[in-house]
Amino acid sequence: MKEADFYRKLTGKKVRCVLCPRECEIPEGGKGFCRVRKNVDGKLYSLVYGRPCSIAVDPIEKKPLFHFAPGSECVSIATVGCNLACRFCQNWQISQEFREVSSEEVPVERLISLAKEQGAGGFAYTYTEPTVFFEYAFEVMKAAKKEGFYNVWVSNGYTSPEVIRKMSKYLDAVNVDIKGNDQFYRKVSMASKGIEPVFEALKEYKKNRIWIEVTNLIIPMYNDSKEEIGKLVKWIRSNLGKNTPVHFSAFYPDYKLTDAPPTPGNSVETAVKIAKRMGMKWVYAGNLRSENESTTCPKCGTIIIRRTGFTVISYNDKCPKCGTKAEIKGKKWIK
Ligand code: SF4
Repeated sequence: MKEADFYRKLTGKKVRCVLCPRECEIPEGGKGFCRVRKNVDGKLYSLVYGRPCSIAVDPIEKKPLFHFAPGSECVSIATVGCNLACRFCQNWQISQEFREVSSEEVPVERLISLAKEQGAGGFAYTYTEPTVFFEYAFEVMKAAKKEGFYNVWVSNGYTSPEVIRKMSKYLDAVNVDIKGNDQFYRKVSMASKGIEPVFEALKEYKKNRIWIEVTNLIIPMYNDSKEEIGKLVKWIRSNLGKNTPVHFSAFYPDYKLTDAPPTPGNSVETAVKIAKRMGMKWVYAGNLRSENESTTCPKCGTIIIRRTGFTVISYNDKCPKCGTKAEIKGKKWIK
């Protein structure tokens, strides 16, 4: 156990965790909503510090991040726990239905050695919500930066702005999942404060000059109306800019959301069209085979970077036809 960052002491040995917008008030002996932060004798502790439940080496394209360090592999880590409870979670075994924290301790140095052995470009904090294992992620991030590795978060955006400010020096890129409208957040993701904190977090990432890509999982009957997609794209365009890559992703029934069918390919392609028509430059279809896995030139439509799944097949920095530059951040790892 490690004493948590970001909490306040209240009267009667209660504490308030302010790591995420839920701001759980936790009585002595109790845990927060995420179940991985515990009040012991009036102090808040992280129960998952140094206790990852998953460690894997993935292509950065799998996060998905298509405009950051293309072609690189990243050591991807997670602990159990999450500060939302999405009914459609694809990683529910480790985010929601876990029984206990991993018993194996993995020190920061071991992760750094693994990244070196694997020839990785950096680290991804992913699979569950990195906010709930912030203290561990932060130590890995600092050590990783010192060794020349990048750090990326794959997040639900339920992170307090002051946490984003604290780690901004060490964080290079983030993919934030915007799940639906305010009602969707409250009813399907059990987000007590709705969508607004996600918007606030995205603005904070932007203010701190962290590269942002956005994912939207399209679930039939829940969040797939053209109107909703249009509203979401409008927000992204006005607040994050037209250069922000947007990934529309197909849903497959899982966990508690089994009353909706898998997303038909044409719903995802329609969303891509809407976003492009509204001026977004880099728009992708994910979780299904599509021409829209590739980066196409926003001016003339020529393919700039061709991908199949998470593999880069051919790569250019700019459009081979008209010379428009692809917006790429970080070091290129294409062999
Ligand atoms: S991180 Fe966990 S304990 Fe802290 S406010 Fe969020 S859900 Fe509650």
